[in-house]
Amino acid sequence: MYNFGLHYPIFGSEIPCPHCRQTNLALTLTGTYLCLRHGSFEADSLSSELVHLPSEWD
Ligand SMILES: [Zn+2]
Repeated sequence: MYNFGLHYPIFGSEIPCPHCRQTNLALTLTGTYLCLRHGSFEADSLSSELVHLPSEWD
């Protein structure tokens, strides 16, 4: 079994949004999580922190 393309970010396949607690799904290609309200959060593998990326939705 090979799981090409299923390399999740450090926090796993989904996390609660830090702001609204809705489920954020991981985007496996970019290592980010997506909240429908708040946009993208990047999982920083070096600092193990979740970084809110700038978004035009704000
Ligand atoms: Zn949110």
